[in-house]
Amino acid sequence: MKIIHERSKCIGCGACANICPNYFEMKEDGKSALKGGQEKEKEIYELEIEEAGCAKNAADSCPVQCIRIQE
Ligand code: SF4
Repeated sequence: MKIIHERSKCIGCGACANICPNYFEMKEDGKSALKGGQEKEKEIYELEIEEAGCAKNAADSCPVQCIRIQE
């Protein structure tokens, strides 16, 4: 499965980095970033993972729904 982060939509609320610091961190531009994520399309980052874990909570908590978990 993988985490997909549409960074262009991020409003920098910080929820994902608080809830799931294993996968997300805040950057100097005020938006979050998917740690180790690869940019597949412009501003869309993906990371292959074994288990969703806290990333599911991060996706559920994102106010602009720019984090998805794909099975
Ligand atoms: S929860 Fe969503 S809007 Fe908030 S920092 Fe994370 S990706 Fe950005």
